[in-house]
Amino acid sequence: MDPALGPPEAMAEKRDELTPMMRQYHDLCARYDDAIVLFQVGDFYETFCGAAERSARLLEVALTSREDSTGEYPMAGIPIDNAESYIEELLEAGYRVAVADQVEEPGESSGVVERAVTRVITPGTLTEDELLAGDDNNFVAAVARGEDAGSERGEIALALLDVSTGDFLATSSSSREAIADEVSRFDPAEAVVGPDAPADLLPENCMVTPYDETAFDRDRAGAKLSAYFRNPDALLASDAEIRACGALLSYAEYVRGGAHEGERGETADEAETEDDALDDEDHHLEYLTHLTRYDPREYLLLDAVALRSLELFEPRTVHGRDDATLVGVLDETASALGGRKLRDWLRRPLLEPDRIEARLDAVEELTGAVRTRERLHDLLRDVYDLERLIGRISRERANARDLRSLRDTLAVVPEVRDELADTDCDRLRRLHDALDPLADVRELIDDAIVSDPPIEITEGGVIAEGYDADLDDLRGTARDGKQWIDDLEERERERTGIDSLKVGYNSVHGYYIEVTNPNLESVPENYQRRQTLKNSERFVTPELKEREDEIVGAEERADEREYELFCEVRREVAAEVERVQGLAEALAALDALVSLATAAAQYDYCRPEIEERGSGADGDGRVLEIEGGRHPVVERTQESFVPNDARVTDDRRLAVITGPNMSGKSTYMRQVAQIVLLAQVGSFVPASAARLTPVDRIFTRVGASDDIAGGRSTFMVEMDELATILREADENSLVLLDEVGRGTSTADGMAIAQAITEHLHDRVGATTLFATHHHPLTELADDLAAAFTLHFEVEQVDGEVVFHHEIAPGAATGSYGVEVATAAGVPESVVDRARDLVAAADADTEPGDEATDAATASSDAPAAETAAATADGGDVPTDVATELRALDLAHLTPVEALTELDRLKRLLEE
Ligand code: ADP
Ligand code: MG
Repeated sequence: MDPALGPPEAMAEKRDELTPMMRQYHDLCARYDDAIVLFQVGDFYETFCGAAERSARLLEVALTSREDSTGEYPMAGIPIDNAESYIEELLEAGYRVAVADQVEEPGESSGVVERAVTRVITPGTLTEDELLAGDDNNFVAAVARGEDAGSERGEIALALLDVSTGDFLATSSSSREAIADEVSRFDPAEAVVGPDAPADLLPENCMVTPYDETAFDRDRAGAKLSAYFRNPDALLASDAEIRACGALLSYAEYVRGGAHEGERGETADEAETEDDALDDEDHHLEYLTHLTRYDPREYLLLDAVALRSLELFEPRTVHGRDDATLVGVLDETASALGGRKLRDWLRRPLLEPDRIEARLDAVEELTGAVRTRERLHDLLRDVYDLERLIGRISRERANARDLRSLRDTLAVVPEVRDELADTDCDRLRRLHDALDPLADVRELIDDAIVSDPPIEITEGGVIAEGYDADLDDLRGTARDGKQWIDDLEERERERTGIDSLKVGYNSVHGYYIEVTNPNLESVPENYQRRQTLKNSERFVTPELKEREDEIVGAEERADEREYELFCEVRREVAAEVERVQGLAEALAALDALVSLATAAAQYDYCRPEIEERGSGADGDGRVLEIEGGRHPVVERTQESFVPNDARVTDDRRLAVITGPNMSGKSTYMRQVAQIVLLAQVGSFVPASAARLTPVDRIFTRVGASDDIAGGRSTFMVEMDELATILREADENSLVLLDEVGRGTSTADGMAIAQAITEHLHDRVGATTLFATHHHPLTELADDLAAAFTLHFEVEQVDGEVVFHHEIAPGAATGSYGVEVATAAGVPESVVDRARDLVAAADADTEPGDEATDAATASSDAPAAETAAATADGGDVPTDVATELRALDLAHLTPVEALTELDRLKRLLEE
């Protein structure tokens, strides 16, 4: 057990003797024993004992101590004023944080100030803007099983909630892999797991939070859901989903903490109710108004490997730039709302041509209408993060400025609507109609809240003049009183004849009349001495005192009335949560569409033609035709890019791609997949023309995604990924295989590569792009009906290799590895010897050579052994020739090349 968590042992031993305050601390630690408790003492959040030692080190704050009759306890505190940055560090270190605030004013009751946990901050449930990335969701997940939890085939449900925006999703599957894929799609920061939940589905960067098992109970979860949504049983597909969603809701309520979040302290009585946190009506999160149940099969499936290798959200360091991602290229959104929407679209590309076309129509119209697009972009820039704003308003965490921000956003809406008034596009028309300017809400805020309110909402200056008669009266009284005092100086000077008489104010004594020592003679009867200074005396009069009390009383009551009114207005706005969310949704989609159109125009993308499978002109099957395709990310990171075509149909669906290292194989395969993905997002694509039938799933095995840190060898990882592909791909999948079979001996590698190719061709039927350095595979392609070869041309100029990055039909003539070795500075003599060896090997092998024969010869014996067995003695023994042909010199370091040559030479000499 982490000594920073739970009740400190030193305190536990003598709990009953502790001072009341320390007992409070001890008890809160016991209640929130999976979190570091930040305990408000005045202007600081304090931690004690183990937690203090931990936070002092982590946060680099001073470790002090607090002593009482029971002992001395280590203590470390952080200032409340900028607590967020400290909390962020605690979260980063893997802790949850329970914030225990003073929930009554000191002195309000006798005894110790009441404190309660007002919020539990965990990585997945953040609502603080300071701790959140604006343009991406921050999800907390819940994973649960169905009732038949024990059985192997038990269904697994996944619920996902963004507490800051109210986005709430649920899905389920009987396949563990499918759930794991959904988890990586949404990348939750935290997952709440119930009894026998498969926590091993969760990636390492996801904090696992074990949570009250009873919350996962079917009936309890169902009841919790019913408190939020009408008829959850109809909304969700299974018991497992109900359990996951219900538990997640109670967790979301729990992290809101025990007390209200109102900025004013609540009374001790109210804080008491926190013992029933799980059931408490008061913790209802009003802004969770919609729950979307989806089936993973409704979207193009991208597993974690594909997300990474297609560079959707995370850069591959090869391109050397952090923004070198698909989302980095496409994100021209103007608002946080749009940024999140775009990411959601990229995460979940569509399958149905109609839905894709609807987005494409909108993108096309916006691409053409330059002025409208630019104007919309400018307007959308003034749109605040409405989802998080209404969340805060609804959780009673919003201040007056937040309400003004809402009002400012609403003010933009009519203008946005106007820009779309003449649209012919269905999708844009519907967005136009959904843009509710919420005139009533805007009017309410305009009437009620001053235009530039202070941050504090308890100290007045928030509510506008004329909104409330009582408030205006109180303010009038205060104003009149002040005016009377302002005039007092003049009046008293005249009355007393003391020209230097002054009226002033100080916070201890209030208003006073000051008379300098020489004039004290002339002080009238009714002056009462208050304070003696060196050169003067200060007085009050009963009348002045009376006026002052009146002013102070009126001001105090005005502040209170303002706070009351503010809370009322905030509640009234909160009641419109669904309309605000509907507006947010429309603005988000519009921003995402404008962003896609902007990128399309800026980078010269074209509208892809989407065809329903089965209606293709080329027969009944798949189509994938790209003219002049480019890699959207690579083309942005370098000066020039050579466009390439692609053409796939049912009877031409497995491409074996060869070419020397660095010629463009990997880039080509990725760009094809990215173009397909973008098209299914509803985006224009980097090509001069594209026509395709949607695919269900993209599989990749691209490049070296080592998992050595995870304790598995590269080869193991590769085979693992391959196994998934071979098991799950079908004729609706797009499969990219890049240099498969590198992690083992060349003979083994080639045998594996060949077997995979055959399997994908004969049994799976997926659209497959296979880049390989195993040349014999190109010959295999000739034997497989629906396979074909592509290669990258390179030119040799004066013995040097020039890359054209141009793809062409057929197989590469050689690996050019030897030439690349020259360019890399491998000594001339070694290169010459290598040339001889390659020539000898070429002379020795005929088309349909032993490697091909081997793999088809026997299904029992491993291919490599068979190859060795069929060796016929020539100038160069066949095993050496085979190894040489398959040897990828370009991927070897000079030293490795030398070692390899040395080994082969010795083999020859044997
Ligand atoms: P391979 O997989 O054949 O070893 P890559 O696809 O990794 O080669 O390409 C190597 C480099 O060549 C890329 O990083 C890129 O800079 C450049 N390149 C690839 N394709 C093109 C292209 N079509 N136009 C311009 N440069 C390209
Ligand atoms: Mg490559």
